[in-house]
Amino acid sequence: MSDKKIPYKIYLAESEMPETWYNLRADMVHKPAPLLHPVTHQAMTAQELSAVFCDELVRQELDNDTREYPIPQEIRDFYKMYRPSPLVRAYCLEKKLQTPAKIYYKFEGNNTSGSHKLNSAIAQAYYAKQQGLVGVTTETGAGQWGTALSMACAYFGLDCRVFMVKVSYEQKPFRREVMRTYGASVTPSPSESTRVGRSILAAHPGTTGSLGCAISEAVETAAAHPGYRYVLGSVLNQVLLHQSVIGLEAKAAMDKYGIKPDVIIGCAGGGSNLGGLIAPFMGEKLRGEADYRFLAVEPASCPSLTRGVFAYDFADTGMVCPLAKMYTLGSDFIPAPNHAGGLRYHGMSPILSQLYDDGYLEAVTVPQTRVFEAAEQFARVEGILPAPESSHAICAAMDEALRCRETGEEKTILFGLTGTGYFDLVAYQKFHDGEMTDYVPSDEELAASFAKLPKVE
Ligand SMILES: *Cc1c(COP(=O)(O)O)cnc(C)c1O
Repeated sequence: MSDKKIPYKIYLAESEMPETWYNLRADMVHKPAPLLHPVTHQAMTAQELSAVFCDELVRQELDNDTREYPIPQEIRDFYKMYRPSPLVRAYCLEKKLQTPAKIYYKFEGNNTSGSHKLNSAIAQAYYAKQQGLVGVTTETGAGQWGTALSMACAYFGLDCRVFMVKVSYEQKPFRREVMRTYGASVTPSPSESTRVGRSILAAHPGTTGSLGCAISEAVETAAAHPGYRYVLGSVLNQVLLHQSVIGLEAKAAMDKYGIKPDVIIGCAGGGSNLGGLIAPFMGEKLRGEADYRFLAVEPASCPSLTRGVFAYDFADTGMVCPLAKMYTLGSDFIPAPNHAGGLRYHGMSPILSQLYDDGYLEAVTVPQTRVFEAAEQFARVEGILPAPESSHAICAAMDEALRCRETGEEKTILFGLTGTGYFDLVAYQKFHDGEMTDYVPSDEELAASFAKLPKVE
């Protein structure tokens, strides 16, 4: 099909929205390793997990075999308020870069949470409501997940308690107000309100917090309150399942115009947007039906795939959560307070970790100032103010497009534009004022953290 016929924005009709989520694990030869009990190191049973998570979500978490999950009608109805999300042909960026590459991005920033996280938040809140729970607890780093969950809980009438990493709580007061608007309570983490928070504060006075620490506090709070469960916005298998809606829509939109991406790029924090975007394409690759390159982009300050080890580790700092086998920097790793807030988690989704270890997925890191340079260039030609997290993918996509300019290759690049950056303007300000630093952890720092990994036989 001639290039000229491809519109700037490819929208699917509501009736073309996916009716099922796709469970990539069904097509993986090496399944992600099971979650282990933090004390006994035995595989977690459904019963044990259901003390922490909702029953249906436990089922999804443990199910490596069912390929498709019907999306419940109530969730589909909610999705329709902001989905299908557009697939955009970045004609203006291509022109600016003078590249023969064809660049597409799937834009997930068109909802109040400003990110893709609402796709899983609404599903998790729905199953909590179905189970008759009173409310849920969670952590949030940059604030997008907390906002998404607050919106989802408000919709279903659930109580929502959010532990927000202290550095973000202080840097992003307006995020907090959005969450409170949706009825959530927001506590800066580490806090005095949990046992684990108090012990972390005692060990690291003045700490600005970390996701791993906020997770421990949220899990402890859920366990202490009847009718509450804990929910997590990334990393888990269930979250990647819900996020497959991104990739399914992207693929449906591309198929409409006979477009096949050569390389698919996403930023990787805990792996949920990337896992969701690549899911149906990776499925084709695993089944031997098509070939694609997949690229995870990490911040140089928190490089779990590129510099981490593939091992069982605690999902949280307080060591109350199950152990997950993943690429990790060690649960003790507290990243420098940089601004790629949503990419600060020490580990990576067990699904993506396994695919990376099996050689199906590549990974690169980019330093923060390059990310903001890319963000600014993108904003000036494509009109969207991107989230810093998303801008990692923009940066790698632009690098790829510039290589095509050198070689003359007309590659088709697809990347995930996960959200908008309106709450990240302090970071943009630091960039503009030349005050942004490129922190990269030393090998010694990482080695010290690896030394504390749990010993699992
Ligand atoms: C949370 C977040 C990410 C990173 O999380 P993943 O689980 O790796 O997708 C990326 N972009 C935005 C806008 C986010 O809010």
